[in-house]
Amino acid sequence: MPSRPPVHRPPGQGDRKQQRREYDQQRDKQEWRGWYKTSRWQARREAQLAAEPLCAICLKQGRITAATVADHPIPHRGDYDLFWNQPLQSLCDQPPWRCHSSTKQREESRG
Ligand SMILES: [Zn+2]
Repeated sequence: MPSRPPVHRPPGQGDRKQQRREYDQQRDKQEWRGWYKTSRWQARREAQLAAEPLCAICLKQGRITAATVADHPIPHRGDYDLFWNQPLQSLCDQPPWRCHSSTKQREESRG
């Protein structure tokens, strides 16, 4: 007597695989998003903004603008090492310059 019935693979296995991959990507994305909520990140962000309170990009353009964002100059894309270990830069993200948003948009359009 066979111990288990034969496995019938239903059509659409590829779809399930695809869904699984998207689920994993989603989970990975959520994982690094959670890093921004850790006290470790909050402390790092505050230390960065305290050390460099002015927006680095504005400063290069001769503008004095208060920074509100501790930015990763190299996009970390969920990479643990890049997220936690690369030096940060301070950027503004309020009108009129919005340096943080504009650099991120450039990176996204570049791919
Ligand atoms: Zn700026």
